[in-house]
Amino acid sequence: MSRLTPALLFFVALGITVTAAPPVNVEWNPPNLPPAPLEGPSLCVGAYLEPAQGQAMLNAALARFPDRASWDAYAAHLRQRIQENIGLSPWPQRTPLNAIIRSKRVYDGYTVENVAFESVPGYFVTGNLYRPLNAKPPFAVILSTHGHGSRVKKPADFENQGRFTASVQARGGTFARLGAIVLSIEMVGYGDSIAQVGEAAHKRPFTQTLQTWNAVRALDFLLSLEGADPTRVAVSGESGGGTQTFLLTALDPRVTLAAPVVMVSSYFFGGCACESGLPVHRSKDHFANNAMIAALAAPRPLLVVSDGQDWTQHVPQIEFPFLQQIYGYYGVPQNTANIHLAAEGHDYGPSKRAAVYRFIAAHFRLDLARTLDAAGGIDESHITIEHHGPLHVFNEKFSLPPDAPQDIAMIERTLQQLQR
Ligand SMILES: [Zn+2]
Repeated sequence: MSRLTPALLFFVALGITVTAAPPVNVEWNPPNLPPAPLEGPSLCVGAYLEPAQGQAMLNAALARFPDRASWDAYAAHLRQRIQENIGLSPWPQRTPLNAIIRSKRVYDGYTVENVAFESVPGYFVTGNLYRPLNAKPPFAVILSTHGHGSRVKKPADFENQGRFTASVQARGGTFARLGAIVLSIEMVGYGDSIAQVGEAAHKRPFTQTLQTWNAVRALDFLLSLEGADPTRVAVSGESGGGTQTFLLTALDPRVTLAAPVVMVSSYFFGGCACESGLPVHRSKDHFANNAMIAALAAPRPLLVVSDGQDWTQHVPQIEFPFLQQIYGYYGVPQNTANIHLAAEGHDYGPSKRAAVYRFIAAHFRLDLARTLDAAGGIDESHITIEHHGPLHVFNEKFSLPPDAPQDIAMIERTLQQLQR
């Protein structure tokens, strides 16, 4: 055999020469972007582009990265830049979650519990856990994120905010009845997080860092639960929760399905510090609008829900064809879908929830029949919508641990120390 070695080496060498893809230059800024500031980060805030400009950026991206190899290379570059510029490179050390799960309520086919865990030592991510009563493991897991709501001036205002809303409760309960475990988590400075850091903490750019890290740790929590199925991990939320959805999906390969609602746009970048407060979209050598960040889900199943009254109004003509092209690179154009509700507005209402139920049930083999009415429509009437009171994890009976830091700057330093 030894006398064949030179020939084998030759063919091996030849094979490598022939099959290796040429290196792709992944540094890219499309032409005709607005001028970058002379100093400081290039933030893309709110309606940074016109719709026609957003479409031009997507066309330029497809022209520059016209196949799977070139897009894969740029996608890796984008992930790296997003992770760096969002403040999570290197990834912080994972510290004990010290999870609290309590106050279980039993409803029709599911339970609700109140949850807190420490994403970094001393910062409590707060939420609700919805679990199935009539299903056997393994359980698909779903992370539910929420958008920006009105501020809380009096306790009753919680009813209209984040995880306390009927929309978040309905999707938690419905997916649990279908056999999944659902965690709804709170934005920084919302809900029970107000008691720790106050509402003003939300307006700092660091919120984009912390919320993304909180979502990563929420997957750690969900996947630590008994019976959790790591092959079926979904994330879905609306508006600012849609931003959290595609950022987490871009950065965390454990996500196997994403359903961002009313947020995937080529020209609107999110107006809050937690969406565009850090230069995730643009630097000297990268650009990505939110449609391109959403495309980092490929080839994993991706449902984009859009409507006729906000920055997702052009999705069927602009953003979805782009996503289909990217998914086509992987040979799975059927893995992305768009439900466009032209007569609707910026919410996660019943028809949008129905679209997400159907998409996730199909991909995760959930028993959709458990929530269908006689006519085949989605029936959420089995869900008990609670007032905000029982949903709080910190309240008069269970107070926030007194040693929990309440200064968001201290929490920022703690996270940075975990990156050393
Ligand atoms: Zn925000």
